[in-house]
Amino acid sequence: MPLDPARTVDELRELREVTGDEDGAQRVAWTDTWERAREWLRGKVAGTGAAEEIDEGGNQWFTLRGESERALLIGGHIDSVPNGGWLDGCLNVMAGVEVLRRIAEEGDPSVTVRLVNWADEEGARFGRSLFGSSAAAGSMADQDELRGRRDTNGIGLPDALREHGVDLDGALAARRQLESAAAYLELHIEQGPVLESLDLPLGVVLGTFGVERHQVTWRGQAAHAGSTPMDRRRDALAGAAKLALEIRNIAREVGDGAVCTSGNVVCRPGIVTSVVETAEQLLDQRHLDADRLAQMLALARDASERYAGEEDVEVAWARIWRIEPILFDDTLIGFADEAVREVAGESHRLPSGPLHDAAEVSRAGVPTVMLFVQSLRGLSHTKLEDTRPEHLELSVRALDALTRRAASWVAGGGGR
Ligand SMILES: [Zn+2]
Repeated sequence: MPLDPARTVDELRELREVTGDEDGAQRVAWTDTWERAREWLRGKVAGTGAAEEIDEGGNQWFTLRGESERALLIGGHIDSVPNGGWLDGCLNVMAGVEVLRRIAEEGDPSVTVRLVNWADEEGARFGRSLFGSSAAAGSMADQDELRGRRDTNGIGLPDALREHGVDLDGALAARRQLESAAAYLELHIEQGPVLESLDLPLGVVLGTFGVERHQVTWRGQAAHAGSTPMDRRRDALAGAAKLALEIRNIAREVGDGAVCTSGNVVCRPGIVTSVVETAEQLLDQRHLDADRLAQMLALARDASERYAGEEDVEVAWARIWRIEPILFDDTLIGFADEAVREVAGESHRLPSGPLHDAAEVSRAGVPTVMLFVQSLRGLSHTKLEDTRPEHLELSVRALDALTRRAASWVAGGGGR
């Protein structure tokens, strides 16, 4: 049996049994349960003969040597959020194991194929996502800040990493892992409702959204709720409220998948008997196109100035974080389309709202593509996360079909 997708579904259920509880998956990176999951994975890969290595960033690599040193990478992450789902991250790890088995059984691959289980994709314990992949990509630049990070029990990040054999200061040495990388493939659950709404099992990911995150601070004047006439108020919340509604129009106007979220507004003094003096609003804007993202930001800024005038308040913007859109490789997107059509008949291209390890690998200059498989109800990061078993099996077949195409491309000199 060269490829057995039903085995992948069985193994994912087994992993859920071994590392989850009644609240969901508990494979939080840098914990004993996570270590147990890595040990379990080691056992699953053993039969393929792939050589294991854990790198300086804590990433777990399994390498099947081929005629060429140039490597085709397949990546996922076995870590989860607390009370997480049974598929996020580990689907691709286990689908990748199945592909390795197929290649090992066929014997003598033309190119080297490597499965990587990235360390701490979720950042659930210390709030630092994409740890292992950013170390391997060489983009990790926040070691000084990370040194001071603590979990909710007060345990420092460097100490927790050391228990799992990782020295924070040496993590960037994992960069050597990508030196031979010719291409990178990642399958993931969609974690959104788009494919389900189109009634399609699989989609091809064009890239990951660029993100602009700001704190918008509105300043008015605290005043007595009883004695201040309505036309004399300088209400900071009024500006925030108008902007929270306007960003919907902005997203609609800019279009092509644009999303904007006003995730929180903290009001001061925050009592029922006072007009709001300051409102600190959090704004997240995302688009796959850098120019459109910039346009969304400009439109929101202009609108905020207008509302500040209307409400006689002040508004100030401070950037919290940003990242450029990351576009995947055109040739690999083409292969992914073919692979999805081969196994499912119809393909669909879509952007990814969440960031993934694939974004880090792509940023490092390795041609990259992702496949999405439908998520039921669009739910993820909860034990309710689910995908139909037949769709999971299709996704394993699609990853395999993509791997075949990418491997012959790399063998023929394609990729980096
Ligand atoms: Zn994930």
